[in-house]
Amino acid sequence: MKVVPYPTSVIVENQNLKINYWTLKFLNRKIESSYVKYMNSRPKAYCEKQKKLLIQIFHSLILLIYTANYLSYIYANSISKSIIFQLTLIIFALIVTQVLFYLGFYYSRIEYKIKSKEQMQNPNKTSLYSLVSYKNSYYISFSYFCASIVLILNCPTAQNLIFSDLNDSALSCLPGLISLSFLYSSATFNSYNLLVLYNIVLLLLFGFLNLYQKNSISTSILEILLLFIIYIIHIILAYIYDLECLQEYISCKLSEETEPKQLLDNEENASNNYKVNDCIEELNNVLPTVQDHLKFPIERAVGLLTNISNDGMGRYSGEKSILDQISSNLDEEDKIYIEQSWSNNQCINVRKREKIQLKKSLENNLDKYFQLDIVLIVKQVSINWNFDSFDLNFKTGLKPLSTIGKYCFKLYNITDAFSLVESKIDKFLSKLEKSYKSNPYHNAVHAADILASALYIINNSFLSSCLSDLDMLSVIISHLSHDVGHPGFTNRFLVNFQDRLALQCNLHIDNDISVLENMHCSIAFSILAEEDKNVLEPLDNDQFLLVRKMVIDMILATDMGKHFDLLGIFRFKNHNSKSLENFEIKLEVLRMLIKVSDIGHAAKSNDIHINWSLLITEEFFRQGDIEKESKKPVSMYCDRETTIIAKSQIGFLRNIALPLYEAMNHCLASSKIENECIDQIKNNISAWEYRFKNDASRTLRDIQPTGLLSESPSTISLQGIKSHSDAILSKHK
Ligand code: AMP
Ligand code: ZN
Repeated sequence: MKVVPYPTSVIVENQNLKINYWTLKFLNRKIESSYVKYMNSRPKAYCEKQKKLLIQIFHSLILLIYTANYLSYIYANSISKSIIFQLTLIIFALIVTQVLFYLGFYYSRIEYKIKSKEQMQNPNKTSLYSLVSYKNSYYISFSYFCASIVLILNCPTAQNLIFSDLNDSALSCLPGLISLSFLYSSATFNSYNLLVLYNIVLLLLFGFLNLYQKNSISTSILEILLLFIIYIIHIILAYIYDLECLQEYISCKLSEETEPKQLLDNEENASNNYKVNDCIEELNNVLPTVQDHLKFPIERAVGLLTNISNDGMGRYSGEKSILDQISSNLDEEDKIYIEQSWSNNQCINVRKREKIQLKKSLENNLDKYFQLDIVLIVKQVSINWNFDSFDLNFKTGLKPLSTIGKYCFKLYNITDAFSLVESKIDKFLSKLEKSYKSNPYHNAVHAADILASALYIINNSFLSSCLSDLDMLSVIISHLSHDVGHPGFTNRFLVNFQDRLALQCNLHIDNDISVLENMHCSIAFSILAEEDKNVLEPLDNDQFLLVRKMVIDMILATDMGKHFDLLGIFRFKNHNSKSLENFEIKLEVLRMLIKVSDIGHAAKSNDIHINWSLLITEEFFRQGDIEKESKKPVSMYCDRETTIIAKSQIGFLRNIALPLYEAMNHCLASSKIENECIDQIKNNISAWEYRFKNDASRTLRDIQPTGLLSESPSTISLQGIKSHSDAILSKHK
């Protein structure tokens, strides 16, 4: 729930009544029926109805206990004239409270019927889902008052006052009053004032009757004091509850004003998605058992349902479809290609001709392609999770991307599988590498690093048996290209600075959506379009369209702005190696793969993780510097003066990295990923927490650059981040 600061004011629907917290509370309790309707129609109202039912049951129980008590008392003391009074009073109380309670329902049903008629006549009108009218809450508080009065009049004092022949052995009404008070504390949402009034009357009555009985003044005063405290607590609880409801209502009104979305539409949408996902799962389960001629239509149905489900989620979150996003930033020809590649037929055609089994084949003649020291490093790719890309960068003379790229084409035998031209691969990789800027973080080392992470995950999960040569080709190209041309600023920054930086960075910003990711796709495919770098030339049309679709899809998935939507969609599904035979599902997993690899450093050994964290921090700070210079608000965690780095990292690891890895491994179920990656994220969180608690110089304000080049990454303190990132950066230059 969004918290709205007090005092606040909103215009209440259909009434030109300006309300704020104070007027609403104390001056204008009639309030607007829209508030009450809202409270009754929200999802929580159902629970409240249940709660009210429970209260009724308790209520009746309490009265029954008192009845039993009096009956036994009367039997023991010969029938007296009080029995008629007792029974009449109790039956009367039961009837009155129950009738009052149901009166509310009766009223509301009439109102509901009227509203339903109105609804039918005018479907555009806001529907009323409420079965309980706001009058109901007044009845409930009145029923509380009646029940309490009954209890007080049943207490020995009152009995003695009315019937002098009764003695003190009857049950005290105090426990009953206390339980009623607690039971009712949150039973109403808009009769706080009435409760105050009722409690005052009840306390006065109770006090009078108790003090009237002169024999034990001190006990009476104690009892009155106790009830007084209880009533104060009751009033505070009712007040807080009232306040919460009001705050919820105001938040809802405010958010309705900014995004006119229907809560119920979204709920229906989400529940439909669950149903569609159930269908997909069922179909995937039967798929391996059906006869061959049925496989094709079922696969097609699964594909269509997956599209519906994804569309639903997109609508649910207010996102545009991925196709819309790509199309708006590419030229006409590109649009046609992509639209064609979205056709299911093409996907299926290609899939049928693919070799599903990926064959890892590495000849021993690596030294033909790489120097010996580099062979030793690259051989760690896909085997060692803590693959050291900084070392690769250093040893290859700042050519990490082209080296790892070339190695992967060999490792997965892709060059031979599609008869690719080796010189074109070399030129493509080399140009791609040069198109990365020398940012602290978003540079060619990062691109090489995330490919290494992805290959480790593939190699240590069932993905290794589900991905084809064509998939692998797409994985390599997408991972290596996913941040190409990155200017070192976030999407949000670029959108805010459109006028200046769009020109500087040569960006084509049309719709402010995934600005960077669209640019990465665009640069990668324009390099591939160059004749001497056209690696994909030997592919037939279907294959080319498929690779293109997969690469674009994966790169666009790296937009952190879509993180929670993608994670949300993925968490609904239960994928396995069989379901990955479906193209759409495979693509969903590949999107997650690139996302997981993109922040792979979060799950790497503490040395490597800290290195990358300091680099991204420095990049954020450079952005913050520009924002400050331009007198714009500084983005979160981008202010080098005030940012507490350890805190920002703890948040990133906890809220982004860990849930993402857990979701991914829920699907992949790899013990290696569990032990190597997820456990390491937790270790890294602990390491940052330790720093957060113990490091005095937590922001860069206190830092004197100390030249950390000679230090091993594990000894890097938060001091000297800038010089450290400069040092790493200078290696790229
Ligand atoms: P990409 O820009 O495609 O590399 O997406 C990864 C994003 O994750 C980066 O742009 C950062 O916004 C974010 N990120 C990665 N590492 C960290 C980190 N250590 N702390 C905070 N954000 C991070
Ligand atoms: Zn990245």
